[in-house]
Amino acid sequence: MKITVFTLFPAMVEPFFLSSIMKRAVEKGIIEYRIVDFRDYAEGVHKKTDDIPYGGGAGMVLMPDPISKALEAEGASGKRVVFPTPSGRLLTEEYAYSLSQEKELFFICGHYEGLDQRVIDTYVTDEISIGDYVLSSGESAAVVIIDALFRLIPGVIASESLEDESFSDGLLEYPQYTRPYRYCTKSVPDVLLTGHHGHITQWRCDRRLEKTMLNRPDLLSDASLSIEERKRLLSILEQDKRTCQEWILSEL
Ligand code: SAM
Repeated sequence: MKITVFTLFPAMVEPFFLSSIMKRAVEKGIIEYRIVDFRDYAEGVHKKTDDIPYGGGAGMVLMPDPISKALEAEGASGKRVVFPTPSGRLLTEEYAYSLSQEKELFFICGHYEGLDQRVIDTYVTDEISIGDYVLSSGESAAVVIIDALFRLIPGVIASESLEDESFSDGLLEYPQYTRPYRYCTKSVPDVLLTGHHGHITQWRCDRRLEKTMLNRPDLLSDASLSIEERKRLLSILEQDKRTCQEWILSEL
């Protein structure tokens, strides 16, 4: 996949492509990237890229000319162009998967108050929000979106690593442990040392249900749970209720 990032602050984006799993994907030739400073396409001695908003209001807006010249020069017209913005469609694992199927993607990093709407109307195919909060810049949001999608491209990470992950089937992931067996006063759950595959799978399934119920109950209705999983969820709820009652009674 070829990824082109348009930014006024290349130093905010470049380290991501030079580190860890992304670095290996680039070395393997799975990812090819270009970072384009669209200030290079601005006119005049000051290379101005932003101006005050029409109609008044605080802050500055990115001007249409430098970014559209950069987009045209890089051949983005008619291709899939992402603009990270808090007013976009929310990024999900499913959305990241659809982006990971593309051969080429372009990202425009907004800054200040945002980007002139005419650039969005002309070039942008996907306005994406990474969450209901406002960041100071689109660079970190673009990196989040690229991170979520590139790891789903075959060959980037082992396919087994993706199988039980959070959101792979609508549930969150089970807790993970590594050596040492005892850390401070806490031990690894004994079931994980039994070598009994069935018991370990059952324990992990229960923990996924429990964690999803506690942290993201909104996911459960879309998770298409089997009858067996629903029964497990009920018994986990009953167990949690008993533990809670015992704790309350012990405090009385
Ligand atoms: N005035 C904009 C608004 O109220 O929607 C916010 C502009 S924000 C300060 C600057 C840039 O950060 C945006 O243009 C966008 O590229 C990026 N950004 C901020 N929050 C984001 C989010 N939750 N998801 C994606 N991009 C975001």
